[in-house]
Amino acid sequence: MRLIFLGPPGSGKGTQAKMLGESLHIPQLSTGDLLRAAVRGGSELGREARKFMDAGKLVPDDLVIQLILARMQQKDCEGGFILDGFPRTLGQAEALEKAFIVKRITIDAVISFEIEEHELLVRLSGRRVCPNGHGEWHIRFHLPSNPGFCDVCHAPLVQRADDEESRIRVRLAAYRKDTEPLKKFYAERKLLRPIPADGPMAAITQQIETTVKQLR
Ligand code: AMP
Repeated sequence: MRLIFLGPPGSGKGTQAKMLGESLHIPQLSTGDLLRAAVRGGSELGREARKFMDAGKLVPDDLVIQLILARMQQKDCEGGFILDGFPRTLGQAEALEKAFIVKRITIDAVISFEIEEHELLVRLSGRRVCPNGHGEWHIRFHLPSNPGFCDVCHAPLVQRADDEESRIRVRLAAYRKDTEPLKKFYAERKLLRPIPADGPMAAITQQIETTVKQLR
């Protein structure tokens, strides 16, 4: 099964991709996570990407495409994968389509997370993350057992630089301008499956599972 999870920042697609990946035994490939790991590792790509990420802007297509195509070559992707946060521009979608033609593989569906912007602002501005990449929590909706500290490594939680309100607005504007047009791109290919993403988490999980079952 090869899926794309498409949705604005804060729509919950990362959490849902992780859960579905675990139940289908396929990896969740998040370009956000891959980029943050590159930043932590201090590679040249990481240093270059950081400038864009901290400002809430999209990292240039060539860097992201290079990173995700290399990741997809790894053995754990042979049985399928969920792309989370990629593609995010038409250029990325076209590059992905070309790479798949060469590999003779196809995408089964693009799950599109539909949610209002004001809801996203509340979710993103209250998000706190582990600085060592162990997960994320929320100051109102999802508290760790010891508030302010990571449940796994107990490090003090931090706010991502791009979760600061003015940067959230930049990211949402980037989503509207660069990523929303992908809905048309995938609808034309009969791959788009919109799901409402503003209800309780369990209801959204259920919707995704139903959609995925219909693909089998
Ligand atoms: P995310 O964790 O998906 O919200 O991504 C965090 C940041 O990483 C984004 O705000 C972008 O700066 C960068 N990023 C992640 N995925 C992409 C992508 N497909 N294209 C460009 N930039 C990306």
